[in-house]
Amino acid sequence: MKGAILYGPRDVRFDERESPTIIEPTDAIITLSMSCICGSDLWPYRGLNPTDGPTPMGHEYCGIVEEVGGAVTSIKRGQFVIGSFFASDNTCPHCRAGYQTSCEHMQPVSGAQAPVLRVPLADGTLVPTLEVPSDDLIPSMLALSDVMGTGWFAADAANVKPGGTVVVVGDGAVGLLGVLSAKHMGAERIIVMSRHSARQKLALEFGATDIVTERGDEGVAHIKDLTKGVGADSVLECVGTEESMTQAIRSTRPGGSVGYVGVPHGVSIDGAELFFTHVRLHGGPAPVRRYLPNLIDMVFHDKINPGKVFDLTLPLNQVAEGYRAMDERRAIKTMLRP
Ligand SMILES: [Zn+2]
Ligand SMILES: [Zn+2]
Repeated sequence: MKGAILYGPRDVRFDERESPTIIEPTDAIITLSMSCICGSDLWPYRGLNPTDGPTPMGHEYCGIVEEVGGAVTSIKRGQFVIGSFFASDNTCPHCRAGYQTSCEHMQPVSGAQAPVLRVPLADGTLVPTLEVPSDDLIPSMLALSDVMGTGWFAADAANVKPGGTVVVVGDGAVGLLGVLSAKHMGAERIIVMSRHSARQKLALEFGATDIVTERGDEGVAHIKDLTKGVGADSVLECVGTEESMTQAIRSTRPGGSVGYVGVPHGVSIDGAELFFTHVRLHGGPAPVRRYLPNLIDMVFHDKINPGKVFDLTLPLNQVAEGYRAMDERRAIKTMLRP
């Protein structure tokens, strides 16, 4: 089988690797309908997360179950399934509390930029749909595997409420789907921080009401201007840098909440500053599994169309160009056809 392998900084290749097989009796093997590249794949691609030798890439997936291990009971061959980037048993105390990405038996899913994928803990991880979705729904189903679920968690963690004012820091796929999530949760005003015209356009389509192009202190000043000097009720931090986290905290009103889902790289928070802001912080790797049943239902009923974040589709063998396009911000998110 051929799939995407990262050999070093900016060196990703469509190359031969071992076909996945059942290793544990709780595994499933699925044939992927579509795959894609994540913004978080750009960290190792840019050499900012050191990798341990050649690394199979990809963690977002949906497709048809081909085979299940002997201990799998609820997932069946032939089902269309979606799962999260972390496998979980869905039975331990953390899973039952809705934090499946902190599962006591959590395992990362990797190697999804390929035609076939092994998913551990299949019963807990995978959510089957009632029917196989039509081709036009596949991009939106794929988006649920990470970016849509992560955007939804950002909005949920930021305590978005009907009538509230929301700021979204970050105009990548997660930030844009954070806008869509906030809109569905009833936010009245959604301010997105973006300097990129194609992304601004999609943000407005997803429900953004205002665009702020400034960053840093000027960005915070503009948010304060737009909110009568108060700040936002809910801020979604979807980048993961020191600048974006500071921006998020300083844009939030006292008593408001920041939902942070950008994987932190070099972020430190000043305790004294945080103390005097009265801002709540909640975030982490999104427990996508918690939201999947509801989000799948919303896609089937045409209430959300998160697949719109895919603005480039390539055959899997052109995966290197897919990474380049995202790295150079020519594409928001690349979908890969196995
Ligand atoms: Zn991802
Ligand atoms: Zn668990």
